[in-house]
Amino acid sequence: MENTKKLRSTLAALTAGSEDQLLKRFGEWLQKYSESRDTTLEAAVQVVMREMFSTLITSLRTGRYEEILVQLKNLPFDFQIEQVEAGLRAFRAILVRKANDSLEDPTSKHRAVELIYKDFDLILDSVSRLQDKMYALRLEKEIERKTAELLEAQDLYKGLVENSPIGVCILQDNQIKFANDEFARMGGYTKEEIIGMDYRQLLTPESLEEHKEGIERRQRGLDGPLTYRATALRKDGSPIEVEIHSVPTVFKGKPATQSTVRDISREKKIEQLRQSFFSNVSHELRTPLTTISGHIKFLLSGKKGKLDPSHRQFLEAASEETDKLDRIIDTILELASLDSKSFRLHLADVDMTRVTRKVANSKTPQAKQKDLTLEVSLPDGLSHIVGDERRLEMLMNNIVDNAIKFTPEGGEVRIEGRDEGSNVVIEISDTGIGIAKEEQSKIFDRFYQADSSPTRKYAGAGLGLSICKEIADLHGGRIEVESDVGKGSTFRILLPKEGRPE
Ligand code: ADP
Repeated sequence: MENTKKLRSTLAALTAGSEDQLLKRFGEWLQKYSESRDTTLEAAVQVVMREMFSTLITSLRTGRYEEILVQLKNLPFDFQIEQVEAGLRAFRAILVRKANDSLEDPTSKHRAVELIYKDFDLILDSVSRLQDKMYALRLEKEIERKTAELLEAQDLYKGLVENSPIGVCILQDNQIKFANDEFARMGGYTKEEIIGMDYRQLLTPESLEEHKEGIERRQRGLDGPLTYRATALRKDGSPIEVEIHSVPTVFKGKPATQSTVRDISREKKIEQLRQSFFSNVSHELRTPLTTISGHIKFLLSGKKGKLDPSHRQFLEAASEETDKLDRIIDTILELASLDSKSFRLHLADVDMTRVTRKVANSKTPQAKQKDLTLEVSLPDGLSHIVGDERRLEMLMNNIVDNAIKFTPEGGEVRIEGRDEGSNVVIEISDTGIGIAKEEQSKIFDRFYQADSSPTRKYAGAGLGLSICKEIADLHGGRIEVESDVGKGSTFRILLPKEGRPE
């Protein structure tokens, strides 16, 4: 016992003042292994290790190492325990070397080394136990931090959903499981009243009939998102127009749908007003126009007396203008009708050869006026299609009209037809001004004109092609365009023979 004590103080004396040497070795180790190039952290590590080594030297004398562990526990920063272990091992190596170099007697040497290993085994063992504890502590802190983050995010989303001006609800087993304030308010219920209600009580029978399947499929986690318009029922029985966007979700571990619901009553009202405004204005314009046009035509017929050439010229100009106005009114009425919810095509068997020839014949005078060649090439037995003849005629009419309008005098307009798989294809090509690549996707937009300047050369409202596109879409077909500026354009109309698939 006495001997051990003596040996300890010899070792402590040997090691005293070795902190610098230890730190140097530790620094080398740190450079080799540490991934962090954070110099402030390294400096801090050095400070802590210096303190630790001096405690070690004191402990060496007493054989009590608790001090070191206390120091470790109170480390002021996120210390890597592996770094501490490496420091301790470096210290042990130095100590062993010092004992070997300085002690003469082989027995003392052997005992000193044995003592050093025993002591360090004890310390390293405690350090590794401490490591487990520190790991648990860190994990606990991390969980605390993450929980706080999660709660904050939850509060944020809850606030967003609760205060949203759009209704939000979760539907499961046909029951409203969650609703925000707006959803309840829209229905005229309190939140307490609406939660637990059967969704079927919240829609009119017609809307329920129309959307039941889609809603219930999504409740079972089938299919993707669904957006639809419906008429909902308030608590007092009054209807409210809504747009609903539903996505499948999981609520308390079971399939459900999460829906956002928007009150669109105002939008619908404006839309209705817009439609009735268009159709009223157009009808109001048409009545006097028909009278004016009738009078002009009557005068031109010469039944009221022979006209001198200059009078005839004025009247002919007036007649042309009234025809143009008539066509604009037609276009506006057609757009209003295509837009209306109740719009339906009048489907029947349509002979596209007949429609094409009819349109071409009606355009011959216009083409002649501009000295254009208008050629029609249709194969015998071009298939008939299922379609709305009046609308298809309008489509052809607009495109042939444009071809004539945008082709300078002396040019050529060709209309070709062919069967192509399940489609009938009609191609209208011209040798006109052409359409720049960047314009080609825009010309089907409403009111779009490549040249819309007040000084533009070509008259028009930019509505013709948007109507054409809608008509082709309604038939399940499409229109393609190919064009080179200065060379001409080809509009290709593809219409499925069987009509639009259901
Ligand atoms: P608009 O009443 O102005 O003719 P459309 O919707 O029919 O309206 O056409 C939109 C625009 O597309 C036209 O203003 C014109 O710039 C361009 N366009 C349509 N057809 C042709 C064509 N055959 N050649 C050149 N440009 C065309």
